[in-house]
Amino acid sequence: MAKMTSQDYMQKEDKYGAHNYHPLPVVLERGEGVHVWDVEGKQYYDFLSAYSAVNQGHCHPKIVGAMHEQAQKLTLTSRAFYNNILGEYEEYVTKYFGFDKVLPMNTGAEADETAIKLARKWGYMKKGIAEDQAKIICCNENFHGRTITIVSMSTDPDAYNGFGPFTPGFVKIPYNDLETLENELKDSNVAAFLVEPIQGEAGVYVPEEGYLKKASELCKKYNVLFIADEVQTGIARTGKMLACDHEGVKPDILILGKAISGGVFPVSAVLANDDIMLCIKPGEHGSTFGGNPIACKVAMAALDVIKDENLEENAERLGKIFRDEFNSIQSDMIELVRGKGLLNAVVIKNKEGKTAWDVCVAMAENGVLAKPTHGNIIRFAPPLVITEEQLRDAMNKIKEVFKKFE
Ligand SMILES: *Cc1c(COP(=O)(O)O)cnc(C)c1O
Repeated sequence: MAKMTSQDYMQKEDKYGAHNYHPLPVVLERGEGVHVWDVEGKQYYDFLSAYSAVNQGHCHPKIVGAMHEQAQKLTLTSRAFYNNILGEYEEYVTKYFGFDKVLPMNTGAEADETAIKLARKWGYMKKGIAEDQAKIICCNENFHGRTITIVSMSTDPDAYNGFGPFTPGFVKIPYNDLETLENELKDSNVAAFLVEPIQGEAGVYVPEEGYLKKASELCKKYNVLFIADEVQTGIARTGKMLACDHEGVKPDILILGKAISGGVFPVSAVLANDDIMLCIKPGEHGSTFGGNPIACKVAMAALDVIKDENLEENAERLGKIFRDEFNSIQSDMIELVRGKGLLNAVVIKNKEGKTAWDVCVAMAENGVLAKPTHGNIIRFAPPLVITEEQLRDAMNKIKEVFKKFE
């Protein structure tokens, strides 16, 4: 049989897989550090990092090693029994982020769902909200995942159209708007404010400096929980362990996913202190795979790597270089560059029918992978293990592409 080509693999996915994604036309088969290779052997810089799940770089040997070792011993017990790894992980991760307790889940969406349940329960048990009246404030253009409850919060028609009826109990307000937030917080049925410290999927919207600090203070003032969804912004991506750390904000509930496993395994986590976390009692919430021994070992290794390799510092330093370099590109297709650390986006102005998609296809041909979001925005988020030399090399490839479009 002839060797399969990229075209063959794409056709197979198209024929047998649901059409819920529109990938760039590259077929990858191998990854190491900042690089991935396609089935024809072509090498690319990965400037998406699986939506910031692969912060530690592809197939990090320490993380893969931890998975491999645990997989040969014990993979899953369910939470019907104790296992000898979960407690060690719970101690590790709570001390790492400074909370009393963790509730382990698998995906980001599940962790967001968990935080919503937890906040509602707290609202009834601790704040005294009347049965079924709890409200949660969320922001326009948010992205928290794909479940029915989560798309009930969405303001993106692609996310919610045709999927109703929706979960009630959400109040949508503009992002980066403290005045509207305070008005809504005055409603005594509000249990929580759920926010992304930087809106990732929306196109890397960075709020004004002081927004998170002030929002968290307002939440305190009105006895409302401040929930930070750091699934994309957390784990060193923005130049600090958490994006909230830039403003010295400690959320009441912290949601983590993606890079907590270095992209090796689905791991997510909800962290909170006892007065909140203990509102959920045995039998009220759970997950068959949540907190499984492989996930625990993988997450500990992945979080070790962040500190061992100083990835916060690297993201902070190289992020500045990235934005400086991008701002120096002379192109009328570049409208704006924004971001923090190594979570950045470039807003593209269409030119002679050429769009952000065309730029991404041309970049892929030139060896750099990135993906457009919302039509005209390209997110640039390489693994945080990237070196300055690699970054400058990738920037040269990106510059060549913009030159081609002049
Ligand atoms: C990706 C993402 C999620 C959802 O995570 P999944 O693992 O895809 O369910 C939730 N919140 C934010 C901010 C994200 O970026």
